[in-house]
Amino acid sequence: MAASEFELIRRFFVDATAARADVTLGIGDDCALLQVPPGKTLAVSVDTLVVDRHFGADVDPEALGHKALAVNLSDLAAMGATPAWVTLAITLPAADDAWLGAFMRGFAGLARAHGVQLVGGDTTRGPLSITVQVQGLLPSGCGLRRAGGQVGDRLFVSGTVGDAALALRARQGGTALPLLQPRLDRPTPRVALGLLLRDVAHAAIDVSDGLHADLGHLCTASGLGARVWLSELPLSPAVRAACEAGDWQLPLGGGDDYELLFSIAPDRVATLQEACTAAGESIHEIGELVTEPGIALIYPDGRESRGAPIGYDHFRD
Ligand code: ADP
Ligand code: MG
Repeated sequence: MAASEFELIRRFFVDATAARADVTLGIGDDCALLQVPPGKTLAVSVDTLVVDRHFGADVDPEALGHKALAVNLSDLAAMGATPAWVTLAITLPAADDAWLGAFMRGFAGLARAHGVQLVGGDTTRGPLSITVQVQGLLPSGCGLRRAGGQVGDRLFVSGTVGDAALALRARQGGTALPLLQPRLDRPTPRVALGLLLRDVAHAAIDVSDGLHADLGHLCTASGLGARVWLSELPLSPAVRAACEAGDWQLPLGGGDDYELLFSIAPDRVATLQEACTAAGESIHEIGELVTEPGIALIYPDGRESRGAPIGYDHFRD
């Protein structure tokens, strides 16, 4: 690696994020050395964002830095893990100081907010691509899997769904939706909610590919089906207007929500609701898990349909 690239690492990555006592050795050696406390299990997840696939070349670098970490923290949240460490592999067309500075403001701001330390990575030249791997901690034996759903579980989703898809649709159509744009560009990983769910929910997943597709994953993993009352979906006003006009694609098929979808036994709902209210986390009951496989959508007019999954699939034309 050229000297200037070591200079980049020193200026932009070393000391950019939280400083944690459990990092024995951070950026600068061949490996980072990290202390997993006794009785804890490491939860690990990685995601790649590629130019022209996940974002345009003209993307706001600060928002991209935020989002690259947020989508990974969302995976930890869906597992009920506490974020701890992160590595960052970044491929850049050129050593652009202003771009990298803005990217790291977004990335490091979110990392510090969650007490996460950047402990290593890789910096190379090429078409813009960002790979982030996060590590979180769980009490050993814990972890919110997709597979734990049980018949009769109530199905909940956090926040609102479809906002990011509507913001993307508007942007592609050349308009801006200032209220919804941050939902697309700067998603909020539901880390605190994941911790509240860890000991009470049966199954959980984060909604990244669209509610319908991700519910399908939870159902398949749990060996069950689901019934969803579309009238109960938490929707922001603009998304609700689209749905009332008959377009349910936004909340069901639109991706990038990064809300948590989970199932919970009916007798645990009241306690969870109280805990969520106290913590300022919004959750909404949207359906239930049933024996019959597949997803039944119950429209507000009472019509019921078992449509094919309409989530986003990277290998589908
Ligand atoms: P090596 O050749 O041993 O892989 P590098 O020269 O790639 O080491 O990196 C030097 C140090 O800087 C390593 O500790 C590496 O983890 C860190 N590093 C490189 N790029 C990044 C980055 N984008 N973010 C954080 N740390 C980085
Ligand atoms: Mg390297």
